[in-house]
Amino acid sequence: MTEDRARLGALPTTYPRIFADGPLTWGFEHGDGWSELVAALCANLNEILESEPGASMGVKQVKEKFGTLRFYYRLNGANDKVAKRVRHAVDLAEKASGCICERCGCLAKLRAEAGWWSTLCPSCRTDST
Ligand SMILES: [Zn+2]
Repeated sequence: MTEDRARLGALPTTYPRIFADGPLTWGFEHGDGWSELVAALCANLNEILESEPGASMGVKQVKEKFGTLRFYYRLNGANDKVAKRVRHAVDLAEKASGCICERCGCLAKLRAEAGWWSTLCPSCRTDST
């Protein structure tokens, strides 16, 4: 297991309030390059939830789709302001994933090749073709 994978695997234990439904059924279904982005998002969400003691959150699925990050969750008992902040944090991370190489975490561009969308830096893109 890589250091990035271990870091991702520890997130449900580190943030039990975000992963209230337990660890992800299929794990983190994306490349290691996004591990820092996902860890930062979880830290951010945890901070938002701290302002709303009655809210509960469960992350359903975290994966790559059409070259960018998808972060699926449920949120209960949060007021509109908190719900909006959570949505904004997730949106931002999903958009940012389109500039971060999914494999190595370097600056990258979202691009379609032969109809297949991916976010990879030039050197990872060369490796994969
Ligand atoms: Zn790369």
